Amino acid sequence: MAAPSIVNGLSVDVEDWFQVGAFETVIAREAWDGLALRVEDNVLRVLDLFAEADVKATFFTLGWVAQRNGALMRRIVEAGHELASHGFDHARVFTFDRKTFAADILRARKTIEDAGGVAVTGYRAPSFSIDQRTPWAYMELAEQGYAYSSSVAPVAHDHYGWREAPRFAFRPLPWSDLIEIPVTTAMLGGRRVAAGGGGFFRVLPYGFSRWAIRQVNRREERPAVFYFHPWEIDPGQPRVADAPIRSKLRHYTNLDRMAPKLRELVHEFAWGRMDLIAHREAARAVPLAA
Ligand SMILES: [Zn+2]
Repeated sequence: MAAPSIVNGLSVDVEDWFQVGAFETVIAREAWDGLALRVEDNVLRVLDLFAEADVKATFFTLGWVAQRNGALMRRIVEAGHELASHGFDHARVFTFDRKTFAADILRARKTIEDAGGVAVTGYRAPSFSIDQRTPWAYMELAEQGYAYSSSVAPVAHDHYGWREAPRFAFRPLPWSDLIEIPVTTAMLGGRRVAAGGGGFFRVLPYGFSRWAIRQVNRREERPAVFYFHPWEIDPGQPRVADAPIRSKLRHYTNLDRMAPKLRELVHEFAWGRMDLIAHREAARAVPLAA
């Protein structure tokens, strides 16, 4: 008989095709307002895909997107999903100091809450940018009343990563209930490998993700945390010609295969909102070693 299935965390980082870290050197923040918005159509397709499988998820949304897509925010909420924050305009946490970070997350949260009509208690840093450089980030999240963060990739990667961080839920501060739920890694030959979604999910065969999530669920008996972006199911998005070749390879590979792959994933495993995962993981969260 199969083991009782663990509910895994499903998340969508709601940003448009031009708001990704990979293109920040070629598309200036000031140019965003002149670009075609595709995020609404793509999120509606994601909502359909989740409804088909009857799964609930968390939508970590940019304040910038919430400000321009109020109706979409309400659709997400009405469908039973969690609305959470991905910062205002995708500036990475280590580019802030504590004061500017405080202002960014406050502005994002207020905008998202006004648009969606619900309280926001979860946060995901743009490009998993909470790491050793940002010890004040958790203090600020705790002080602003967040229940959880899912902002750490506990792995070495060329664009992000905090390789010494715990792989599963931890308490970053001794004086606060705030918990961090890192994105999923699997152990392969004694090494941590990124297995929580994004480009890895799109580029590698589906079997890799299946193997990784099973390992985490069965061997470690923990929930996996998976994420993707609405633009990843949009093969028709404009191509950014002058982006670095590596960024282009990463961004455009297998966009046409993403939706069927996601369909398989959401049907094969049990999924839930991140606030549910945070609640369930709270008792098992370990203190962050100083
Ligand atoms: Zn993002």
